[in-house]
Amino acid sequence: MGLFPKNDYLCKLKMDRTEAQKKIEELRAVLRENSRKYYVDNAPTMSDQEYDFLMHELEALEAEFPEFLSADSPTQRVGSDLDAAYGQNAELQTGTDFVKRSHRYPMLSLGNTYSIAEVEDFAARADKSLDFPFTYCCELKFDGTAICLSYREGKLVQALTRGDGVQGDDVTENVKHISNIPQSLHGEYPQEFEIRGEILMPYESFEALNREREDIGEAPFANPRNAASGSLKLGNPEEVGKRGLWCTLYHIPAQSVPFETHDEALAKAASWGLPVSGHRRLCKDIDEIRQFIEYWDKARRDLPYATDGIVIKINELQAQRALGYTAKSPRWAVAYKFKAEQACTPLLSIDYQVGRTGAVTPVANLEPVQLGGTTVKRATLVNEDQIASLDIRVGDSVYVEKGGEIIPKITGVNLALRPTGAQPPRFPELCPDCGTPLVKQEGEAKWFCPNKDGCPTQIKGRIVHFIGRKAMNVLAGDATVDQFYAAGLVRKPSDLYRINKYQLLSLEGWQDRSAQRFLDSLAQTREVPFERVLFALGIRFVGETTARDIARHFGDIDSIAAAGREQLLEVAEVGDVIAGSVYDFMHDSANLEEIAALKAAGLQFATSGAAAASSDALAGKTIVISGNFSISRDDMKELILANGGKCAGSVSGSTSFLLAGSKPGPEKLRKCSQLGIPVLSEEEFRALLPDAPQKEDIQELTLF
Ligand code: NAD
Repeated sequence: MGLFPKNDYLCKLKMDRTEAQKKIEELRAVLRENSRKYYVDNAPTMSDQEYDFLMHELEALEAEFPEFLSADSPTQRVGSDLDAAYGQNAELQTGTDFVKRSHRYPMLSLGNTYSIAEVEDFAARADKSLDFPFTYCCELKFDGTAICLSYREGKLVQALTRGDGVQGDDVTENVKHISNIPQSLHGEYPQEFEIRGEILMPYESFEALNREREDIGEAPFANPRNAASGSLKLGNPEEVGKRGLWCTLYHIPAQSVPFETHDEALAKAASWGLPVSGHRRLCKDIDEIRQFIEYWDKARRDLPYATDGIVIKINELQAQRALGYTAKSPRWAVAYKFKAEQACTPLLSIDYQVGRTGAVTPVANLEPVQLGGTTVKRATLVNEDQIASLDIRVGDSVYVEKGGEIIPKITGVNLALRPTGAQPPRFPELCPDCGTPLVKQEGEAKWFCPNKDGCPTQIKGRIVHFIGRKAMNVLAGDATVDQFYAAGLVRKPSDLYRINKYQLLSLEGWQDRSAQRFLDSLAQTREVPFERVLFALGIRFVGETTARDIARHFGDIDSIAAAGREQLLEVAEVGDVIAGSVYDFMHDSANLEEIAALKAAGLQFATSGAAAASSDALAGKTIVISGNFSISRDDMKELILANGGKCAGSVSGSTSFLLAGSKPGPEKLRKCSQLGIPVLSEEEFRALLPDAPQKEDIQELTLF
């Protein structure tokens, strides 16, 4: 029996056998389809809460009509991520044929509920079944992707994903690049054991990754969970290391260690150097469990990573053994899930926005509504398929949720409030900007405007990208580009270099000082290193990191232009899609003319000595930066990467040191002093790099 013996769902349903059979089949089909979108494509279109309610409805029906129960029902199986493709991401095409290996002990799911009353039922059932005293260990439910680590003689020997619960993908090499997972342990650890936990993507890394994806015209990840599971399955372990993933461990299978309680096992694991969350509490009864839930329902908003509930586990391993497992989950634990913050508001209209790559994205204009402390007015509808699967119509009252507490998204429609006569929206056939018929390439979910040289939004978008902070960093923004475009001054980035002061002063709002500042900032772009110039060109799928890798691999633009697809594939991060995109870009005569014009304007099209002069001085170091420095924070990160170090967004046990400029974050400093992590000034940091006097050892530096 599942965790939901009280058939609340059936009270509403009350159906006969034939109706029930039909409904069971329908529910199974919907759940299977959405499970695939969630685990395999990493692109869910239904909210977790809705999915869970449908699952509970199916559980209730199967309990009432056991003759229809079958071993392959979604209620009996763990959702499988085996063969997960990086649905929305071209990078996965670098090849991800992970070896599948069997789990020594099955990796199951957890029964879940959104109701405290059902947690009480869980506690009451445990009380009834166990005839000896026991306690509960309450923990955060981390919203990432599950991992099983195996250690032998203190060394990390294997890391498997949950897969289908029986077999998982072997991601050992990728996991070795996650900075807080130790490869060797200390203390008195068992000869051989398994430990399980979650791989998470903290909000800071998630936002940075999505910004980068949007920069290169890729769909952003729906939430940190999808981003974590997609990143864990990248084909290139080095790239996994750059994603800022983080691990927290919460379970040692009782069979593999000689402890009395779950809490004792976790405390021991922490003493061997494993990252175990301290946010857990032993509770003796339901009141204490309720207090823990209420506390974290609010406090979790301050955590740097996503959580979606509380896991309540019976602490004594003897009790766990007595209660055992269902086909899908342990009977000794239950997950209480937090309700997603949700609001219902009318959909006023849909805009169809063209991006610089020509992709057309539908965006919902909503009647403003308060959600998690912010006013939500707009939400992306992603693409045509998403509109169809939500069956959304203008005038509908739609449910808006904050996925991963950050991005508002529409998760459903309140059909009861649908105005009569509301029609499904028609996706435009013509570009909303230039009127060119839209096209959809095979395998793409988005419609594109193919008029790349004539569509004003695409032209302006490319120039805005070119002058962006991470590209050429020109002192100008969207409004200036609009003004230049309207005045007929720019159609391509190279046109910027032909603008003179006289032309600027003839435009509204420009004065001598602003004109000079703009021209000076443009002149400074001649110093921008080649890798950023390559990024600024706006080649589809070539983000900052890929541009840097390609620039460093080939050294100059002529070698890139001359490279065949095979040679492009030799670059560590580049797969078929990126190689194809670079190759096509370099075989378009208009692009070659533009490169020639930018060369003539004096931009850097070869790596300088400085870029090549990188070192391994920071190899193996994970560095968190905070505050202001003599150079921009982005440049500081570049410097760390160029010298072999890794940057992380938040301080944890695996941070090597905090690099603190002026006004560093007090929270980060506090965490360092708590964990005994060194804090280095910019000067001390620079002393670690080549060309500077070396300090003996970072550990000897000031501890704040
Ligand atoms: P789950 O995420 O609800 O719970 C089980 C998982 O929780 C474990 O496998 C583990 O990875 C994780 N976990 C986090 N913290 C933990 C802790 N402290 N102790 C133990 N485990 C912890 O279950 P699931 O089987 O991974 O996924 C099913 C859920 O996924 C569904 O309930 C639903 O919410 C969601 N889902 C959503 C869709 C969709 O379309 N939105 C589709 C399929 C599944």
